[in-house]
Amino acid sequence: MSGIYIHIPFCKSKCSYCDFYSVAHSSKKSSFIEALLLEIEQKKLQLADNKIRTIYFGGGTPSQLIPKDIVLILDEIRKNYNTTYLEEITFEANPEDLNIDYLSALIDIGINRISIGIQSLDDELLKFLRRRHSAKDAIICVENARKVGFKNISIDLIYGIPGLSNQLWNNTLNFVFDMGVEHLSAYHLGIEPKTLLYKQLTQGDFNVLDDDISFRQYCDLVEISGQRGVLQYEISNFAKTGFMSKHNSSYWNRTEYLGFGPSAHSFYENKRSYNIASISEYCEKVVSNQNYFETEILTKSNVLNEIIMLSLRTVEGLNLTSIEKLFGSEHANLIKSSLSKINTAFFQFDNNTIRLSSQGMFVSDDIIERLIGAFETSS
Ligand code: SF4
Repeated sequence: MSGIYIHIPFCKSKCSYCDFYSVAHSSKKSSFIEALLLEIEQKKLQLADNKIRTIYFGGGTPSQLIPKDIVLILDEIRKNYNTTYLEEITFEANPEDLNIDYLSALIDIGINRISIGIQSLDDELLKFLRRRHSAKDAIICVENARKVGFKNISIDLIYGIPGLSNQLWNNTLNFVFDMGVEHLSAYHLGIEPKTLLYKQLTQGDFNVLDDDISFRQYCDLVEISGQRGVLQYEISNFAKTGFMSKHNSSYWNRTEYLGFGPSAHSFYENKRSYNIASISEYCEKVVSNQNYFETEILTKSNVLNEIIMLSLRTVEGLNLTSIEKLFGSEHANLIKSSLSKINTAFFQFDNNTIRLSSQGMFVSDDIIERLIGAFETSS
């Protein structure tokens, strides 16, 4: 079965750390909806398996859509794909958009998983991140989501923010678990080029948090989540039993999916394709039937690298027996020999499977790069 991702590229304003594709105005909303519905129809024959198990509204800010538009999008999906086996529809939303009426409308439409961008429960830090809501708004919003009937609530938090003390971080984690959320995605604050935060940093407006403090916050995240029964299943994702994100898990398993909207990615028939990251060009090209995405056909070595990278992000880890079956024993041996050069505090190796420890997950990019790099130096 496959997945569908829909990118809603509108935000009320730009958060200081964000490098996702979105615009801080909604003047092109109606042409966007028109193009999006066309794209949904145009790509209906791309998937090997037309049965859709998950739909994910991401962005940008999906809660910038009015309920009528969400219905139109879902109807178009139902018209063109087999949704008999649909299990999960996730909707990303920001607290300031989620009043009781909007939340009830989402439930009526059939959204069964809501992912709320809380990021922090400290008003000063929320201002630093240029979020539009307060800590109180976020708390009320989770309570209201529960009140209207959401049984699967996920929240996003950010750690490693300058000014976030370990005490405050621990209190935040305990507070959200007390609220009973089923799922938590927690990310280290990234400072990406072209963001306001990057500019502020280069101007010397603030100092980044010390790495040791960030690492302590990551360890506390893993430990406190575990104690509260919200178990880690991926570097940044934690869930109560039965509440792992089905949609995101399918990315790590390399299940086929189609992504619709500007900047959305797709994976099908051993190809990855990337939609143009511009609303105007996207709308113009979709409507006039011109090409609006680039496609990359994956080579065997691309596939191997993806499997290493995606598997090591998860707690299941990288199974070398499957690598041997798919790519031959020399590849599995090469991974094993580069592993012998990595500090053993970063991973466990048993049953022919490599699993990163918490310490390893914190520096996973570096470890993955070293394992993948082994193939480049051997060829
Ligand atoms: S973080 Fe979310 S709400 Fe903020 S600008 Fe980025 S996409 Fe928009």
